[in-house]
Amino acid sequence: MGVKGMRIPVIAGNWKMNKNIVESASLVKELKDFVRGIKGVDIVVCPPFSSLWVVKEIISETNIHLGAQNMYWETKGAFTGEISPLMLKDVGCEYIILGHSERRQYFKETSKEVARKTEVALSVNLTPIICVGENLEERENGKTESVIEEEIKALFPKIDPTFAARIIIAYEPIWAIGTGKSSSSEDASVIIKYIRELFSSKYGSKIAERIRILYGGSVNPKNIGEFINESDIDGALVGGASLNALTFSQIAKAAKIL
Ligand code: PEP
Repeated sequence: MGVKGMRIPVIAGNWKMNKNIVESASLVKELKDFVRGIKGVDIVVCPPFSSLWVVKEIISETNIHLGAQNMYWETKGAFTGEISPLMLKDVGCEYIILGHSERRQYFKETSKEVARKTEVALSVNLTPIICVGENLEERENGKTESVIEEEIKALFPKIDPTFAARIIIAYEPIWAIGTGKSSSSEDASVIIKYIRELFSSKYGSKIAERIRILYGGSVNPKNIGEFINESDIDGALVGGASLNALTFSQIAKAAKIL
């Protein structure tokens, strides 16, 4: 088994601010049937907060796992409008998306804040899916690696070596998100290798080789195969295509370890 074989692929669906309770239930009921019995891939759905409970009820005792799209870095208290990591655990979440580019861009989340959230997520045993990636201007100005370096290195002071292997990184070039214009798998692979090297220089190669690093940005059933064939790409964070049970299940099936 190669190094990649030690890492179970992850296919995570980010529903963003879509699907009311009835729609969420119907999507996940369909999905449950489509992915029944599939092994060798961790399938995660991340509905909006208002649908977490109903989705959890439907997926309990299936091979689908629950995640949320954001959380606060405190566990309780006077923080009006925020959601606690413990509340997410309570409703059945195992995963948490952190630092999605939409949160960094529209809500001005900083890398330091993403790091604080990561530390708390790990301490309550939520698996963080931490998003990093450059925008078009940064890419065109040759700044991709320096942007990624800043976003990854900001995490280091907050990730204890004993937890490091548990984190998941999603490399999502911002220009590829929701545009239908995915990165080439070769380009994504170069950056993902670079991310793994950054972790290796801090935590050592043994830990870095266990960290799952996903690609995200206009993934669909047609292009998932190219990404998953790359030795360093361990799955995908999927936006638009996760809102349809059939397409999301096709992506999950294509990603499983044979
Ligand atoms: C995302 O928002 O994380 C994403 C990858 O979206 P899409 O698949 O729609 O590009």
